[in-house]
Amino acid sequence: MNEEELRYIKGVGPQKAASLKRIGIKSIRELLFFFPKWHIHRSIITPIASINSGGKYFLLGVISGFEEMKRPGRNIIKVIIEDGSGEILNWVWFNRPYLKPLFVKGRKVVIHDMVENTRWGKQITGTNDSFEFLDAFEEQAINSGQILSFYKTTRILSNSFYREVLAGLIKTNLVDITEILSPGLTARHEFYIMKEAIMKVHFPQTIEELEKARKRLVFNELLIMQIFLAKRKIFLTTKIKNRNYTYDTAAYDELIKKLPFKLTTAQERVLKEIKTDLMRSSPMNRLLQGDVGSGKTIVALLSVLTVLESGYQAAVMAPTEILAEQHYKSFKKLFASIGYGKKILLLTSGLKVKEKREALNAIKDGACDLVVGTHALLQEDVAFKQLGFIIIDERHKFGVFQRLALESKGIFPDALMMTATPFPRALVLTLYGDTDLSVIDELPAGRQPVYTKWQTEKKRQELYNFIIQRLKAGEQAFIVYPLVEESGKSLLKAAEQEAVQLQNLVFNDFKVGLIHGRLSAEEKELIMRNFKDKKIDVLVSTTVIEVGIDVSNATIMLIEHAERFGLAQLHQLRGRVGRGSARSYCYLMTGWVSSSDSLKRMKIMEKTNDGFAVAEADLELRGPGEFFGVNQHGELDFKLIDLKKDLKLLELAREEAFNIIKNDPELNAPQNTGIGGFFRERFSKDLEMVTIS
Ligand code: ADP
Ligand code: MG
Repeated sequence: MNEEELRYIKGVGPQKAASLKRIGIKSIRELLFFFPKWHIHRSIITPIASINSGGKYFLLGVISGFEEMKRPGRNIIKVIIEDGSGEILNWVWFNRPYLKPLFVKGRKVVIHDMVENTRWGKQITGTNDSFEFLDAFEEQAINSGQILSFYKTTRILSNSFYREVLAGLIKTNLVDITEILSPGLTARHEFYIMKEAIMKVHFPQTIEELEKARKRLVFNELLIMQIFLAKRKIFLTTKIKNRNYTYDTAAYDELIKKLPFKLTTAQERVLKEIKTDLMRSSPMNRLLQGDVGSGKTIVALLSVLTVLESGYQAAVMAPTEILAEQHYKSFKKLFASIGYGKKILLLTSGLKVKEKREALNAIKDGACDLVVGTHALLQEDVAFKQLGFIIIDERHKFGVFQRLALESKGIFPDALMMTATPFPRALVLTLYGDTDLSVIDELPAGRQPVYTKWQTEKKRQELYNFIIQRLKAGEQAFIVYPLVEESGKSLLKAAEQEAVQLQNLVFNDFKVGLIHGRLSAEEKELIMRNFKDKKIDVLVSTTVIEVGIDVSNATIMLIEHAERFGLAQLHQLRGRVGRGSARSYCYLMTGWVSSSDSLKRMKIMEKTNDGFAVAEADLELRGPGEFFGVNQHGELDFKLIDLKKDLKLLELAREEAFNIIKNDPELNAPQNTGIGGFFRERFSKDLEMVTIS
């Protein structure tokens, strides 16, 4: 059945088919794969009275009261929830007066969210996706011990709609589900067959069934991803790159002598690992992981020298213009310091037409040895004479296919990816299963942790006074504003106004600058240069400075509306200070209203400077789907995955996938027809990129 026919399914019809299409469900298969957001059953519900620490809970109660507080510019609705446990819960909604009609006394509701302990008692801050009102049927089902599925609903698509239609489909239409596992594999691990897994994920009878279904579905996704990675890994290790690099280390040795610091042991170890890879006959494919400030950039530059010395070109790609510019400048400066003759160029979309043409020509005819750039490097008109080495900084900001696009500009170029996102090693190996891993697990000597403090408005003046004191001591500060895409314009204005106000009213003895993504490349460059040269003391900025920016004299980071940032981002932003030996400070300013999730983030930031700890907490708070960026892995669906539970499954998928590919690289064997067909359909285009030669 195709999408046209969704509307002819019993219980759907044209209006609902259109609604389904709007949320991305266009076929029966997609509908069957639209998994419940919750499975509610008695045993996951916690009585309000037994909650004794912060955290996410499922509560089931009845609305027993309602209060509305109006203040100028502020509306608070407080809904009282009772569940017969002897304690009540305050369910609080900020600035949503239009929701009032929902909160009818006697209405039953399931809420799933963080519970906070406040002065007024246990409290949950209301958000859109975190509650479901129960009808009589649902209440009865849960009370009688059933497991009930709840979906992400809309005004038109209700839970009962999903349950009915899916029940009908499962009775009659499971034919559309392909089985990708061989019977042998399914039996070996006691997996459900796919049809059963789909059925049970929507209508489980027991918790065990539900868990077994989830496992099977997760395994499917993981296996496909691992097959992709296995194919690439095997493909790459059997390739011969046909480049011989020279052992001449004169430039390298000289540069090391010129550096104002000594490399850390970790940096030296990683450099050795890279060198060994470069000298091999198959292309390097290595991920370099190191917390913010651990000194990845210099490792990248030193590695490049071998390639340049041998007459090949190298490309460094960074996710923002500012960062590309910074790398370009610091590389250029380092080259100049040893009178190195290799030519280095910058390529961003901000270049003028003429500059760009010249750069493209130089890259093409080989006059340019090292090009540093942004996504602009991926454009079709960028062609190299002989690209030998690619480096991708802040790898997690790019997708798999962007990486492949850059790679395809050379013939099996050596590839070094860098990231500060500190996944545990086992996870990295499975998620980036086609790569080798190097870790810089040591910060340069003399670094102190950045003192981190969560603040609210009350402390603003005190905070400004402190910043002024630091500025007087000759240090510099960042003040960061969030800029969300949809409302970018108005917030940009806010940042602009704020910069003016800060200049006139707060930091009048100092120079305040403003930088944001809408400025031209030249303007941005000028501002960054001025900040580096201390012509600007306080830099008001949007998140354009999030990654990579390195100004070691900056010691203060003030993040406004910190509640709007995720943990990973906060950690990255904080990484902009604490880069020298002076004590550095990071202040997280939030409004007086914030959800308990964001409070948790603030606490974690206060507690630790360690990227690994931050990442782990992040994983817990957000769940891995969001964490890894689904599209990084060929648009696989990670909604159901729970890495804490599924690490074993991940390892199993990796093992099975690598085995399958080892024995049957083209997936033609009879037991692999299922996965082969599915894989080719899903990755046909991408595989072409993989096998480009
Ligand atoms: P990241 O790993 O976050 O990309 P950078 O490469 O930007 O970090 O390095 C952060 C700062 O540390 C830079 O100013 C860099 O010059 C400096 N640095 C790098 N290695 C060392 C070292 N071994 N000793 C002291 N400072 C170093
Ligand atoms: Mg960096």
